[in-house]
Amino acid sequence: MYDTLFINGDWVAASSGKTLAVINPATEAVIAEVAAGSPADIDSAVSAAKAAFTHWSKTSGAQRGAYLRAIARRIEAGAEELAALSSGNNGKPLSEARIDIDDAIATWDYYAGLAEQLDARQNAEVPLAMPGYRSSSRLEPAGVVGLIVPWNFPFVTTAWKVAPALAAGCTLVLKPSEITPLVELQLGAIAQSVGLPAGVINIVCGSGSDVGSALTAHPDIAKISFTGSNRVGEIVMQSLAKQVKGLSLELGGKSPMLVMDDADLDQATDWILGGIFYNAGQMCSATSRLLVHESIAPQLLQRLKAATEALKLGDAFEEGVQMGPLTSKAQFDTVMGYIERGQAEGLTLLTGGRRAEGFERGYFIEPTIFVDVPTDSALWREEIFGPVLCVRTFSSEAQAITLANDSDFGLAAGIISQDNAKAQRIAEQLQAGHIWINSLQLVCPETSWGGFKRSGIGRELGPWGLAAYLEVKHITQPLAEL
Ligand code: NAD
Repeated sequence: MYDTLFINGDWVAASSGKTLAVINPATEAVIAEVAAGSPADIDSAVSAAKAAFTHWSKTSGAQRGAYLRAIARRIEAGAEELAALSSGNNGKPLSEARIDIDDAIATWDYYAGLAEQLDARQNAEVPLAMPGYRSSSRLEPAGVVGLIVPWNFPFVTTAWKVAPALAAGCTLVLKPSEITPLVELQLGAIAQSVGLPAGVINIVCGSGSDVGSALTAHPDIAKISFTGSNRVGEIVMQSLAKQVKGLSLELGGKSPMLVMDDADLDQATDWILGGIFYNAGQMCSATSRLLVHESIAPQLLQRLKAATEALKLGDAFEEGVQMGPLTSKAQFDTVMGYIERGQAEGLTLLTGGRRAEGFERGYFIEPTIFVDVPTDSALWREEIFGPVLCVRTFSSEAQAITLANDSDFGLAAGIISQDNAKAQRIAEQLQAGHIWINSLQLVCPETSWGGFKRSGIGRELGPWGLAAYLEVKHITQPLAEL
């Protein structure tokens, strides 16, 4: 299937006849050639989705929920193969890819439930203060939607968009990242296997400049949901502004982790490492700015250095591997560029800072920690999207909150403290979409995902994720006519 696109329920050749090489980042070997779509293929995919919308939008929520549950069960049945496909393309340890697939299953099941509940929410009466009139509300699918995803959590980010879009009654065109298309293409095979009507899901691989921009500019697209960088998010927003169309943006982050003076240092070490080195730090929500109370900084940094240097790097499929390579050569170069910039700025390295030793091939970088990073350093302010942690100390709760909020981004934050009232008080003052207290980054389908400030517009997951694909319609008439 890799040399074809999934359009109108079928695997079809790309009109350009061109292909894109897909790389295993641990070995740098080409593992597949996928069909590279073009604007003409986007046209075909949007036409198929438009035709399918006529009947799919009329199905009941219960009918759509049944399809979503069937998709969840198919993913479950093929979970190990999907995880392996994802690891081999993204480079993440197999244990992490398994968590991704479980997250995707939970998301499909969750939106199956919300689809089933939609029917009872239709034509709900809205009490009016004005006498003599009756009004009721309906929730109707937005139309044909375009979904554009990045490469760091393939299949998960996709589930966060595709499942609620289908639950709402939308049909769609998915554009996977050109870097990790393999596991995303499996969704076409899964859709076929559960008998999803042709044209409801369409998948067009290809570059952002060809396929992505054709999708955002297409006149028959009702809305775009985009996850990716701020640079491209701005381009997408400009394209949609010209057409005044709906848009959700899940963009970058530079999230803080606050460690208070009463923190349990061993637990703090685990949570800090998880927040920055999971997925080789390629997480929009990476807690890449560490703020530590000055009274515990020396002991904590000692533990962090030892634990970081003990992390096992390697191929995704090697037993016990805790961190894989960066997912692409381009990302490797970007991250190494930031590390070199930090060194040129004279920042103090606690550990790391080099291409990882012992690997003849692959985009491996040592997990890296810079300390006492000034707040005007690019490393403190910009999203690096790699295994690079920047540390500063603080002396008071108020200073910690000020430093944490001093960012263009506001996606997530972590707080480590044994004083629950203090942690809650701080959480309420942080400008971020999701705050974790004394835990790793737990994301459940029921909770929202999205950011304050430049981290994006709108929310995914939870009922908010479904609302993004629904239009609200009111029907109002005189009571006398009823
Ligand atoms: P990217 O912006 O380079 O690409 C994202 C997607 O957009 C890809 O599919 C790409 O092909 C496509 N694209 C590129 N140019 C386009 C154009 N002109 N028009 C339409 N589409 C285009 O991002 P990336 O490098 O794939 O992912 C990393 C970024 O994603 C990071 O900034 C990260 O923070 C962000 N991200 C955010 C979240 C979140 O939930 N907030 C989640 C994951 C990743």
